[in-house]
Parts: sequence; structure tokens; C-alpha cells
Amino acid sequence: MTQEPTIFDKIINREIPADIVFENDNVLAFKDINPQAPVHVLFIPKIRINTINDIQDNQSQLIGQLFLAARDYAKQIGEDESGYRVVMNCNDNGQQTVYHIHLHFLAGRQLNWPPG
Ligand code: 5GP
Repeated sequence: MTQEPTIFDKIINREIPADIVFENDNVLAFKDINPQAPVHVLFIPKIRINTINDIQDNQSQLIGQLFLAARDYAKQIGEDESGYRVVMNCNDNGQQTVYHIHLHFLAGRQLNWPPG
């Protein structure tokens, strides 16, 4: 079944602009257009996976790469020691709006817990 491309496919294909902060063969990271913290970056796989529920067992390395890229980015921007949050929303109750999995990376202020 073919799927309509998401906004993130268009960012990957450079059809729409984004402020890209990291890229390798498998992962792309760019600033969120509606930041919820002084630093708000999205780490996405370059291949389309709609939700966490759609991650395949053989994609664990790829998912791990999202976290490793976020770890390295935290260190690069000097937020590793002060701390940050990574979160991935899933489906309606998780308030997922773009159906191409993405790790939100939030830093630069005290983040509240629990979230609302
Ligand atoms: P979700 O709600 O699916 O977890 O997160 C989707 C995120 O994508 C939101 O934080 C939203 O601001 C961000 N976003 C949506 N459209 C665009 C866009 O065109 N460019 C960028 N950079 N971020 C986007």
C-alpha cells in the first residue's frame, strides 16, 4: 500500500526547508518549527516508520541510532551535563501528529514532570 508522504519525507528529500543540525546515512535531525524549549530538535530515521507500533524487530539498531545521535548532539551543544529530555509520541493519546517516528530532543530549561 502506498502512503502519502509526510512533511518529514519532504524535509528528507529537501523539498521543503528545515534547519538541519545532524545527518548521517540513516538519521536526520532538524529544529522543530514550533519549539517547546530553547532547544527542540527532532531526530528521525530516513526511512518511513509510521509509529512506534510499526517498528520491526530487525530495526533495533536504527532506533538505537536515534538515541546515539541525540546523545552526541547533547554533548556537542553542551547540554549533556545540565540535562535534557527525549520523547517519542505514539498515536492519538500520545498526541502524535506526524506519522513518521521522531525523537523529540528538548533542552535549555527546567522541564516539568509529569507532563500534562
Ligand atoms: P508529534 O506531535 O507528532 O510528536 O510531533 C510533530 C512535531 O513536528 C511537532 O513538534 C511540530 O512542531 C513539528 N513539525 C510539524 N511540521 C513541521 C515542519 O514543517 N518543520 C519542522 N521543522 N517541524 C515540524
